[in-house]
Amino acid sequence: MAAADPRVAEFLTDDQVLPRFHVWTLGCQMNHSDSEEMAGALLAAGCAEAGSLDSADLVVINSCAIREAAEHKVIGRMGAIGRLKAANPALRVVLTGCSVRADDTVDLQRRYPQVDLFLRPDQEPELTQRLGLGTATSAGAMPDPTTLQRVGRSVAATADRLPGTRSAAVEEGTILRRGGAHAWLPIIYGCDKTCTYCIVPFSRGPERSRPFDDVIDEARTLAAAGVLDVTLLGQNVNSYGHDLAPDARFGDVQAARTLGRDLPLDGRPDMAALLRAIDGIRAEDGRPAIPRLRFVTSHPWDLSGRLIDAMAECDSVCEHLHLPVQAGDDAVLHRMGRQYTVDAYLQLVGRLRAAVPGIALTTDVIVGFCGETDAQFQQTLELLRTVRYDSVFAAAFSPRPGTPASRLPDDVPADVKRDRLNALLELQEDIGLERNQAWVGRQVDVLVDQVRPPRSHDHDLPGDPLAPRVAGRTRHNKLVHLDGGPALVGQFVRVVVDHAGPYALTGQRVGEAD
Ligand code: SAM
Ligand code: SF4
Repeated sequence: MAAADPRVAEFLTDDQVLPRFHVWTLGCQMNHSDSEEMAGALLAAGCAEAGSLDSADLVVINSCAIREAAEHKVIGRMGAIGRLKAANPALRVVLTGCSVRADDTVDLQRRYPQVDLFLRPDQEPELTQRLGLGTATSAGAMPDPTTLQRVGRSVAATADRLPGTRSAAVEEGTILRRGGAHAWLPIIYGCDKTCTYCIVPFSRGPERSRPFDDVIDEARTLAAAGVLDVTLLGQNVNSYGHDLAPDARFGDVQAARTLGRDLPLDGRPDMAALLRAIDGIRAEDGRPAIPRLRFVTSHPWDLSGRLIDAMAECDSVCEHLHLPVQAGDDAVLHRMGRQYTVDAYLQLVGRLRAAVPGIALTTDVIVGFCGETDAQFQQTLELLRTVRYDSVFAAAFSPRPGTPASRLPDDVPADVKRDRLNALLELQEDIGLERNQAWVGRQVDVLVDQVRPPRSHDHDLPGDPLAPRVAGRTRHNKLVHLDGGPALVGQFVRVVVDHAGPYALTGQRVGEAD
C-alpha cells in the first residue's frame, strides 16, 4: 500500500489490509455519477467492493442536503453505523456530498460523531489519498489545503480539480459505471443561480464547465464501449460553456442571456454546440453512435433558442426535457429568485413544443414556500393544468440553514404543506394518466434496463402476471414494463403499448427496434 498522507494517518484501517468498501449514495444523478468515480478510484487503489454496508470496513456516504428529510436519512442510520464500528474497530466512515460544506466542520463533527473523514464534493478526488490508499495518479493529486479561497458564495479549492480529475479517470478507465447501456456524463459542476431556497450553490460552488474536447472524448469513449443512452449532467447544463475561454471554433455562437445577469457568451462553446458535436459522432452506418442523448437539469433562464434548435435538429437528442418550474405564481417565483415569470416560462414551453412536436415535459415543484398563499398555490395547479406535464416531482419546502430563504419566515404550516402536496399529486396523477393513455396502441422502442419481479398485483393487466418481467425507457422517458428475461437488458426492443397507468406503461414485444 502507498504511504499514508500523515494528516490522515489516523484514518488508516488498523490491520493495514485494504478495506472492502461500500458507497451509499443519496440524492440526485450528480451524486450517483460522483459515486461511480469514487468507487472506481477505490477499486483502482486495490480495494474490493463489499456486498453491503454491514459487511464493509470502509463506508463512503455520498449525502444529499437538498431537504432536511434527506439529511435525516443519514442521521437516522448513524446509530446503526456506530454499532457496526463498535463491533469492527477497523471500520472507517467517510461523509461527502452536499451535507459537507466549508466552514461547518465543528457542526459536522457534532452531528456525525461516527464519521472519520469529511470531504466536500470538490474534495472527492482526494478520497483514496486521504485514506492512505493513494494511487498517486493525476486523479488523486491533492492541492495544499491552505489554498482554499472564497469563490462567490462558497469556498472551493483554488485549482478546482473536478474537470481535470474526471478526464484523468476517463483516460485511465477507472470509472465504475453501473448503468449498463446507460451512462452519466458530467459536463458542468456547481451552480451560480440565485434560487433562495437551495443549498446547492453553497455546497457545490460556482459553475465550472468541463473543457469541450474532454466532454467529446468521454462521449467517444462511451460510444466505443457500446453505451446507447447518455445523460449529460449538471445542476445547470444549459449554462454550459459560459466560463470557458473563447475559441475560434465557436465564432458562430453569438448569444446573450435574456434573463438574469448579463454574461458574455460570444465565441464560447455552448450546450447547443455540445449536443451537435456529440450527435455528430457517427457509427459506420452513418447513424449517431450514441442513439439517445439526454441532459439534466435545465434552468429555464439559460434555455436558448440555439439550444431548442439543436434539440429539434439532432437525431440523437431525445424528445424529453426536464424543465423545473418550481411555482406557478410570479410573486412566489420572485421570492424564490428564479428570474423568470410564469408567462416567460409558458413561452418557452410553447417554443419547445413547436420545435419538438410531442416532446415530453417533466418538472420540479416546491409547495408551501415562504409566504405562499392558497391563491398562489392554486396558480401552481393552474400551471399544471395548462402545461400538462408528463410527470412532476413535487416536494414541500424545507428551509436549509445558510440559504437566503432561511431568513424568511417559514410560515406555511406543515399540515397545509402536506395538503397542498397531496392536492398537487392527485391532480398530476390524472394528468399523467391521460398523457400516458395517449400512448396506448402505439409502437415504441424501449431500451431495456432492468429485470422486474413478476407482478404480484394488478391482475387486470394484459398478459401472464407470473411471467418474468423487464422494464426500460422510451425516447420520451416513459417507463415501459414488458414480459421478458435478463437477456433483454441492454437491448432495444419494439413494443406495442397495451396499457397505461399514471406512472408507467405496459406493452408487448413486437420485434427488434430499427
Ligand atoms: N438545478 C435544478 C433547477 O434548476 O431547478 C434543480 C436541482 S435541485 C438539486 C432539485 C430540486 O430540489 C429543485 O428543482 C427543487 O424543486 C428541489 N429543492 C431544492 N431546494 C429545496 C428545498 N429547500 N425544499 C424543497 N425542495 C427543494
Ligand atoms: Fe438549486 Fe436553483 Fe441551482 Fe437548481 S438552479 S441547483 S434549484 S440554486
